[in-house]
Amino acid sequence: MERLGRFGLRSNQDRPTICVPIVKDYWVIIELPSCSSVSVGSLESVVIRKFYFQVCSAEMIDPLNLPFKSALIIAHPGHELRVHHWLEMARPIVLVLTDGSGSVNKPRLASTTSILKATGARCGQIYGSFSDARVYSALLDQEVSVFQQVLDSMTSFLIQEEIDLVAGDSLEGYNPTHDICRYLINAAVELVQRKTGRVMLNYDFPLVGLPSRCLGAQRGASIRLPLDETAWQRKWNAAQGYPELAVEIEKAVATLGKEEFKVEWLHPADGAAGLADLPGGTPFYEQHGERRCQEGVYEEVIRYQQHVKPLAQALWRRATGSLR
Ligand SMILES: [Zn+2]
Repeated sequence: MERLGRFGLRSNQDRPTICVPIVKDYWVIIELPSCSSVSVGSLESVVIRKFYFQVCSAEMIDPLNLPFKSALIIAHPGHELRVHHWLEMARPIVLVLTDGSGSVNKPRLASTTSILKATGARCGQIYGSFSDARVYSALLDQEVSVFQQVLDSMTSFLIQEEIDLVAGDSLEGYNPTHDICRYLINAAVELVQRKTGRVMLNYDFPLVGLPSRCLGAQRGASIRLPLDETAWQRKWNAAQGYPELAVEIEKAVATLGKEEFKVEWLHPADGAAGLADLPGGTPFYEQHGERRCQEGVYEEVIRYQQHVKPLAQALWRRATGSLR
């Protein structure tokens, strides 16, 4: 049997099964007749004389029940709180684009590092290398090469670490750096699949909207992770121990309700979303930017048509050689 991707071995089953990705969103599930002499390390050399198999779509697979190697890729430190229990379960390698210094220029990376340590996740090669001000100036000046370098490092990381599943910021039109992070992830996943032939799973999660809010069409393939009381307590304590985000956390709980955060969601990401237009019309960050300009905090407004869209298209072209 040709090896098309990393093997997955489903756990908690009487009969062990191997899951092999064949094309995007489809898997072959092979039930092993006996597991007495099979270990995960020797799977590649096992000759299976007789087996049963079925082809499954992504909806039929439970990625939380597979030994995937996962990565979390987020724009700002603190986003990881939204998927705190998933961090504990998947123990991903975490990439963070900026140091979270914002317009007040106070980095908050250390609080995220503590959360990663406590959950068993770990820091990756890209970890707060930019200030938020630097990302904004690169966007306003259309320094595409800055983001292309990040895309290249992200792609190398995903290949070298043999990452199977990526989760990260979703496209919400709320903050331009969140959206750029999503465009970078989509382009990197596309590049990895084209370069290696491996199938990768690409998920997003909202940072402002309801955790259950799925922006793409594949709601049925979302991963739903309910928290039990102890997991919720750990998540709540982690949020309370993040002083730089106290105001945001209070606002999120007041607006959406605590209960919403007791279930975590990862939604299948649409790789080509937001390249021609942004769902939802004029993004919030343009309206916010106009206000901040009037207040004298910003000098120029970051706009989708003028700044974000050309960059998103440049990244996608680098990944695919075309716009589709
Ligand atoms: Zn953010």
